[in-house]
Amino acid sequence: MKPRASEKTQAIMKIQSEIRRVLATELRKRDFIELSPVILSPVTDPLNHPTAPMCITCYGDTYNITQSMIFHKQLALRTLNKIFIFSPNVRIEPLDKKDTGRHLFEFSQLDLEVKGATREEMMSLCEELLVTIILSIKKQCKKELNWVGRKLRVPKIPFKRISYCDAHRQYGKNFEVMISQKHPEPVWIIDIPLNKREFYDREDEKNPGYLRDMDLLYPEGYGEALSGGEREYSYNRIKKRIHQKGQKVSAFASYLELAKNDLPPSAGFGIGIERLTQFICGLSHIREASLFPKIPGKRCL
Ligand code: AMP
Ligand code: MG
Repeated sequence: MKPRASEKTQAIMKIQSEIRRVLATELRKRDFIELSPVILSPVTDPLNHPTAPMCITCYGDTYNITQSMIFHKQLALRTLNKIFIFSPNVRIEPLDKKDTGRHLFEFSQLDLEVKGATREEMMSLCEELLVTIILSIKKQCKKELNWVGRKLRVPKIPFKRISYCDAHRQYGKNFEVMISQKHPEPVWIIDIPLNKREFYDREDEKNPGYLRDMDLLYPEGYGEALSGGEREYSYNRIKKRIHQKGQKVSAFASYLELAKNDLPPSAGFGIGIERLTQFICGLSHIREASLFPKIPGKRCL
């Protein structure tokens, strides 16, 4: 029997709740500490694509609404070794993202960062987490998976890896969409050219001009799952990279002030919770992965 719409929504929210539970449990098992999200700050992720700035004035100072917690994660590692946050992000995406079925202007990331870690360690951690989530959902949420009509397969570890340049050569400029559609298992894109990403991503000393970065693509056309990598931690190199990007050092003053004596080397990633729910539940539109979806260009509750 076909489930009622409300039953489908209940099932999706139950699965999302289980995803959050598994992530938090697995990370705590590995000695991660959960931090509260930062919502307001003088500095936030400038991102690599245009979003309308979201600022408010508090006590005469200008605060940004968090687009991602990248800078706070790096700064937190001066005190802690392994951290994670369920971090709400507000990104006023360009209007052309309104029909992708994968973008909201408010969403949550599971954002994590580990002191002294390598990109490869973070890729392995992500693979383990994804497989554990899928196994757990298959076991704990059988009825719900049935209601959403999803047959989930457990991907094989390690996932396939392909460099950004090879992906571009093989599949053309739309390679993300093509790879995601063609592959039945998740695929890593690694070694992203320096000019394609932000100043805080670390350049590969052995492969200048490329970053110690990665994106994970979901299979079956669900698109990008996460971005992450090793971070730049040297104060002087951070400043140089800000200049190279044509950005203003003054825009990041409060972060740079604390980064003056260098930050700890680190690596991490941020994975969108609604997109993960969309993939796990096999939903054609991300709006189904939230009770209060914020769809670009729409007036939303
Ligand atoms: P980014 O830092 O832009 O790579 O974002 C990290 C992850 O957050 C992405 O890989 C997606 O899973 C998710 N994400 C980013 N932007 C959005 C959005 N506008 N709506 C929903 N999820 C998003
Ligand atoms: Mg990304």
